[in-house]
Amino acid sequence: MAHINENYQNLKDSYLFSDIAKKVAAFSQENPQQEIIRLGIGDVTLPLMPAVISAMHAAVDEMGDAATFRGYGPEQGYDFLREAIAAYYAKNGVSIAADEIFISDGAKSDVGNIVDLFAADNTVLVPDPVYPVYVDTNIMSGRKILYMNATAENGFLPMPDPAVSADMIYLCSPNNPTGAVYNKQQLKAWVDYAREREAVLLFDAAYEAFIGDAQLPHSIYEVEGAKECAIEFCSLSKTAGFTGTRCAYTIVPHALERKGANGATLSLRSMWNRRQTTKFNGVPYIVQRGAAAVFTEEGMQQAHKAIDYYKGNARIIADAFTALGIRFFGGANSPYIWMECPNHMKSWEFFHYLLENAAVVGTPGAGFGENGEGWFRLTGFGDREKTKEAVARISALLKK
Ligand code: PLP
Repeated sequence: MAHINENYQNLKDSYLFSDIAKKVAAFSQENPQQEIIRLGIGDVTLPLMPAVISAMHAAVDEMGDAATFRGYGPEQGYDFLREAIAAYYAKNGVSIAADEIFISDGAKSDVGNIVDLFAADNTVLVPDPVYPVYVDTNIMSGRKILYMNATAENGFLPMPDPAVSADMIYLCSPNNPTGAVYNKQQLKAWVDYAREREAVLLFDAAYEAFIGDAQLPHSIYEVEGAKECAIEFCSLSKTAGFTGTRCAYTIVPHALERKGANGATLSLRSMWNRRQTTKFNGVPYIVQRGAAAVFTEEGMQQAHKAIDYYKGNARIIADAFTALGIRFFGGANSPYIWMECPNHMKSWEFFHYLLENAAVVGTPGAGFGENGEGWFRLTGFGDREKTKEAVARISALLKK
């Protein structure tokens, strides 16, 4: 008899987005005349940029010609893309070797797969509220999970607690769902904590391109010593609208090593390389050509045009909340606005209030963890005019 992985029984069913969809569908059926505006989406809405499209068209033509056709590519990604990403980091003052960069089909896959490198008896530390993938992937492999409180008091940026002992630490900055961003000094405290304990930081930088403030770090490797203790995940999903095209990258530095029980020095980069070459056959050539186009001067300009559009939407929402006196986090260096529900409403209560009285949809913060109760996530990923209309409706409702 096959013994199945019983850890799957410990997963909590995730109903957040399906519950939202059901409630919105029911409201829509009862109120067919109402135009519903969705500010809950975490997906991009603008089409792929011209630089990406023309690079992908050219790559399609190459694939159709015997002289330039390509079959299996390197599992780690093509050098042209790894080098383009290394050059992108260099522009931010971070020196990363191309062979420390691994191309994949998504940060979600990499965040999920990285746990292969760690033993089941590691203790995992995650913030609450949290991007649920960090939690569920570790429950699947049977690890103990500790939560650190992200609250309004600490700006939704929890800091290391010397009394807590953890081996694998997940940080996400700019954060989903709160939009909060760690500064360099705060990240240094995490790097120091991880190095002291020989823990590994798993740093999710999926929203780094939304950082506009020159003082804020885009990468954990902007902090000295991070290469000895951190793995960084990043994605073109939000940087360049690749949510449906799929391309991301993970950085595992040469300097990241840990001792095995037998005293041998284990390189996490070599282990990840082995894992990827064994279980993954690479991202399509056409997609990697499109991704490389993002890192050209023209591509970056076009990417930032879209990011500025989304951030402009977030600013419209933020300005309205400032005028209404509603407390919120995020918005400035992130597509997410994390607002406090007015009049001490609970997250789901406010969800219904907003849907029924303004026909606007957001995401209840309670769906991201206990500390999300009483908070609500809105995003700048929508259409400009619809965002303005939603903000007008919300303002009219909450002014009363
Ligand atoms: N990390 C965070 C924090 C995210 O919010 C998301 C997507 O919403 C991802 C990773 C997944 O990115 P990808 O589309 O590259 O799988």
